[in-house]
Amino acid sequence: MARSLRHLVLIIAAFTLSCDSQPIPPSSKSAQTVATQEPRVVVLVIDGIRYQDSFGDPSHVHVDGMWNVLRPQGTLCSNFRNLGWTLTNPGHGTILTGVWQLIANDGSQRPAEPTLFEYYRQEKSAPAADVLLVSGKPKLDAVAYSLDPSYGAAFGATVDLENASDLETYDALISRLQTDQPHFVMASFSQVDQKGHAGVWGDYVRQIEVVDSLAVLTWNYLQSDPQYAGRTTMFITADHGRHDDAHGGFQNHGDTCDGCTHIPCIALGPNIRAGHEVTTLYTQRDLCTTVGSILGVATTESQGVRINEIFVPVQTGVGD
Ligand SMILES: [Zn+2]
Ligand SMILES: [Zn+2]
Repeated sequence: MARSLRHLVLIIAAFTLSCDSQPIPPSSKSAQTVATQEPRVVVLVIDGIRYQDSFGDPSHVHVDGMWNVLRPQGTLCSNFRNLGWTLTNPGHGTILTGVWQLIANDGSQRPAEPTLFEYYRQEKSAPAADVLLVSGKPKLDAVAYSLDPSYGAAFGATVDLENASDLETYDALISRLQTDQPHFVMASFSQVDQKGHAGVWGDYVRQIEVVDSLAVLTWNYLQSDPQYAGRTTMFITADHGRHDDAHGGFQNHGDTCDGCTHIPCIALGPNIRAGHEVTTLYTQRDLCTTVGSILGVATTESQGVRINEIFVPVQTGVGD
């Protein structure tokens, strides 16, 4: 614990220093074909965090940064759900494909429908380095691309998947943003889920606090990097929640109880309403369609809808 805290302090110190120093030069990326000014999207997934332990906690004590720093800048979807299988690979797979993914949770099965990585790379003729999947759970390799014969491995994500702490995942994420400058990223922090399964409440909520800090640092990084500032939308969500107290409590997950299905979702970015809350029911499938619309790619097999309510209304009609 103390070591993790020290590490976090070091990260913050290093981050502060890097903001004051020379920007890191862009890598020589000859294969880059997507214009740098195109919109970018970063989806942060907090693996296995309950809504009631995050935005749904009236004290918001464990999500101080997301609640007090990020939420006022963006839109909170307060009735956002996983209504499919409340497990890790199905949850991540559904966000990426817009189809409820009833795939194995051990990493042995890929989605049948294309992922956002594949839609993006095919439509934009983008190189692998332009889409990134980074996580502390190697089994997420199964959602880096689908079995769809029109897409598949040739359009899959660059993966950075190791058994890693959330701090290491954050380091890997920032490093990739600096060197590859990907247009679409899914970064999944694994340790909240792992601490939950271990069953020690204090460790679980402490890890939420760590990821809360990392989410703020990620957003701040995006604002400091000219490749991302002003053109990047960030979503923070989860793959699934955990059982509520009436269904076994926080240690495990996987059924259709409110604790497992109700998950956080917040959006921030140049066209996202600030200080807004959306109470309409939306689901993980809708994230795929919404992200696709921001990136400018058609997500033809997604069964979700675009979450129009999070966007600044387009001005219509003549006026002064
Ligand atoms: Zn999970
Ligand atoms: Zn449950």
